Amino acid sequence: MSTPSFDVVVVGGGIVGLATAHAVARTGRSVAVVEREPQLARHQTGNNSNVIHSGLYYAPGGYKARLAVAGCAETVAFCREHDLPHEVTGKLVVATEPEELPRMAELKRRGDANGVENRQLDQDGMREYEPHVRGIAALYVPSTGITDYRAIAEKIGELVAKEGGEIHLGRAVSRIVRRTNDVVVRTETGDLLGKQVVVCAGLRCDEVAEAAGADPGVRIIPFRGEYSGFSDRAAGLVKGLIYPVPDPAFPFLGVHATRGIDGHVHAGPNAVLALAREGYSWGTVKPKEFLETITYPGMLKVAKQHWKYGFGEMHRSLSRKAMVKQIQRMLPDVRAEDLHPAGAGVRAQAVKADGTLVDDFLFVDQGSGPGSVLHVLNAPSPAATAALPIGREILERLTGEKLAPLTAA
Ligand SMILES: Cc1cc2nc3c(=O)[nH]c(=O)nc-3n(C[C@H](O)[C@H](O)[C@H](O)COP(=O)(O)OP(=O)(O)OC[C@H]3O[C@@H](n4cnc5c(N)ncnc54)[C@H](O)[C@@H]3O)c2cc1C
Repeated sequence: MSTPSFDVVVVGGGIVGLATAHAVARTGRSVAVVEREPQLARHQTGNNSNVIHSGLYYAPGGYKARLAVAGCAETVAFCREHDLPHEVTGKLVVATEPEELPRMAELKRRGDANGVENRQLDQDGMREYEPHVRGIAALYVPSTGITDYRAIAEKIGELVAKEGGEIHLGRAVSRIVRRTNDVVVRTETGDLLGKQVVVCAGLRCDEVAEAAGADPGVRIIPFRGEYSGFSDRAAGLVKGLIYPVPDPAFPFLGVHATRGIDGHVHAGPNAVLALAREGYSWGTVKPKEFLETITYPGMLKVAKQHWKYGFGEMHRSLSRKAMVKQIQRMLPDVRAEDLHPAGAGVRAQAVKADGTLVDDFLFVDQGSGPGSVLHVLNAPSPAATAALPIGREILERLTGEKLAPLTAA
């Protein structure tokens, strides 16, 4: 039997891989997605906050800023067109201490530069949106929304298949071999050939890059983000989305309270070092992976620089009392007994050997044209929001072809 052959093979069936395959299929090229899990969207895409980000936070001119702003509008249009759950709720970013005000002013500057509508509110103004919130000032961002990214990813997968693409589930890619005119993608159950290959392997993207003979230049450090569900009483204290002003030392947005599309309210995610790449709880430990993480020079530098924050996050992870204290900064009426564990996601955060936490999306090309491999080496939040524009960006890098955004019918 001859090896199945495609114009493009995409490794990884999360939302970024699927959006890439969708962009490729829209041009009439043949495409296959190869996913190691038995279902799509089992990792970051299916275990996140489900927020449609506006593009407020990101450094103007970077990929995150450009692709999140485009992705915010496009995600809403996609949900409308395909009748998927979503709501444009708006959100508050709340400053609780005077020292946060300059950081909030910087967020406003970034939002203005990125073309994201936002306005500053005083205490009375913020209470009109969220009567139970405590703070000294807030930014209101009307375009932020909520959705269900697993449902979006599954819909994109359906569209890929409808356009003639193939989705191969339960096939882990173990090696990638570049040849002059094509690339061999090796799995335990046989090879696939792609003229070009795109790797969107999330928590394992650096590992797959090495299996393709590339030097990723970064290591993926898995940071678990745990959620706490609110009791019915405490859920009544939250109307929409309430965020803190983030600490600029970290590429995380801070523990926020979110009313999800199913009506449940949760707070999270925190950020603790996971003990395995897919380490969704303290009980999931893979000694080899953990050892690789903690002996990576970049991780040692991160630990040295941020040990205090790290221990604080661990303490809040292990103690409900400590977690509630953090939430009470914005929502003083929430009590420890209102919180219950509500799952977790694991972020794939690229870290350089010098300890830099890579902030922007990172794409690395191994060659160009036939025989090339493109690696997506950092696609953390807001990559779910930005996935459709990221897919078009990758298509353009592969083929030079520019696609128009999807718009609601
Ligand atoms: C806690 C948390 C909260 C977040 N909140 C938000 C939010 O509210 N809004 C937002 O926009 N973004 C959010 N994000 C970020 C968002 O979830 C990610 O940016 C996005 O899902 C990345 O998609 P992906 O396809 O790159 O990765 P993933 O969804 O992780 O997909 C990668 C896929 O590759 C597969 N894979 C790995 N290795 C192999 C292999 N060898 N062979 C074949 N397949 C392989 C994996 O099984 C996986 O399915 C959050 C993330 C986390 C963790």
